[in-house]
Amino acid sequence: MKYRLLVATSLLAITNLVHAQADVDRLVAAMLGDTPIVGDLQSLTDEVGGRVTGSPANEQAVEWALARFRQAEVPATREAFEMPFQWQERGVSASVSGDFNFSPDVVAKPFSAAADSLTGPLVDGGMGTEEDFARLGDAVDGAWVLIETAVLDDVVGLAGLFGEYSASAASEAIAADSGARGLVFMSSRTNNLLYRLPMLSGVDRLPLLVMEREEAQRAQRLLRNGHELALTATIDVDSGYAYESANVIGEIRGSERPEEVVVMGAHLDSHDLGTGALDNGSNVTMLIDIARQITRLGLEPKRTIRFALWNGEEQGLVGSWRYAQQHRDELDDHVMAASFDIGTGKILGFFTGGMDGLGPMVDEYLQPVAGLGPFTQINVPLVGTDNFDFMMEGIPNLIAAQADANYASNYHAASDTFDKVDVQQLKLNSAIAAALVWGFANDDERLPRWNREEVEALIESTDLEKQMRDFGVWEDWASGVRGRQP
Ligand SMILES: [Zn+2]
Repeated sequence: MKYRLLVATSLLAITNLVHAQADVDRLVAAMLGDTPIVGDLQSLTDEVGGRVTGSPANEQAVEWALARFRQAEVPATREAFEMPFQWQERGVSASVSGDFNFSPDVVAKPFSAAADSLTGPLVDGGMGTEEDFARLGDAVDGAWVLIETAVLDDVVGLAGLFGEYSASAASEAIAADSGARGLVFMSSRTNNLLYRLPMLSGVDRLPLLVMEREEAQRAQRLLRNGHELALTATIDVDSGYAYESANVIGEIRGSERPEEVVVMGAHLDSHDLGTGALDNGSNVTMLIDIARQITRLGLEPKRTIRFALWNGEEQGLVGSWRYAQQHRDELDDHVMAASFDIGTGKILGFFTGGMDGLGPMVDEYLQPVAGLGPFTQINVPLVGTDNFDFMMEGIPNLIAAQADANYASNYHAASDTFDKVDVQQLKLNSAIAAALVWGFANDDERLPRWNREEVEALIESTDLEKQMRDFGVWEDWASGVRGRQP
């Protein structure tokens, strides 16, 4: 009897396994087939356009996403939350005068202080380091300090991009009490391209500009050849008040363990200079398409899958933070939260956040799409996108590690538009992401949530504290406002 029961149990297990395999294969095939993903992305980028949080276009994007989920028959909700601080550039201009006169194109850095025809000597601030400011001495007083940057043209490993964030945060901290009138960062992109590189530390005390690289280099050469220049800048901003924004959460309810949740996230907001195609419209439409195909095929995941389209990401990962607050009671049952935020470059693997055991699970779940690999998991914690609050809450979290394609060169820039998208790779990525979520939603195994001591141990054993300080989120964690409570 016992033997027969064992056989029957094994047969049931095998039958379940075969069904599970058939489901993921059907889902992957559907993702690779003809779907509306490209039309969706054209619509979000060309019709809704740049959608910085707090703008009418962003509110339109929320309605757009709700409508897309509704059309796909995926239940979706608008989860409102408060954004702490409005900041929109209404207009900006700058002119160089003195020995020579020219009018370079500039943009304000997000959260820059306003300036009303503010004039001061333009001085060569080198790379904006402590030594550079010390060398300038009293010349900093009342001056616009021009700061050189390295060209950013590759995002793989994220060193260049995070290096730029880190260096500009350092320069701003040094300049804050130096008496400088403002900072002028040389654009890190060539061909006169401008972009918004946010200072995530909140409101800046100084006016902060990014100047087209070619004209910034011209000014730097003139200064180094002994000429005297001044800069006059006007930065008109709408800023300083709290307002309401919203995440859009599409949900496919679990058939066996509905209380257990797998989160697939991408941020819906973008900056305003381009139309947010690579960052991050492409991954928004990818998640909607996965939800659509699961529903269309009638597949039933064991766990609940939430397709989270975050808002306020560019202003400090605010939407995903608010989600973690609003869903605090459910976080013990959050099995995994993934972020997709590096455009349409090939998915090379996933950052597994320093959580042992997560990498092997990802390896296993990507087996059905092994032909689209190889995939390598990188077990380090990263700050910079919406996995952050899940990481600080001790929840297994992933970020898709992707090839640069042309992500870095168009990052937050006027050139981040639909034509930069690799449509074919986006389709392949959608199949990879679908296999991943299906694995997490159906595996009987799961990793436990970490307690605060375990999160602290991760911080102590990695460079996480430095990353958090660079992104201006360290104090939130240290003061207990953000992350796993003791
Ligand atoms: Zn992004």
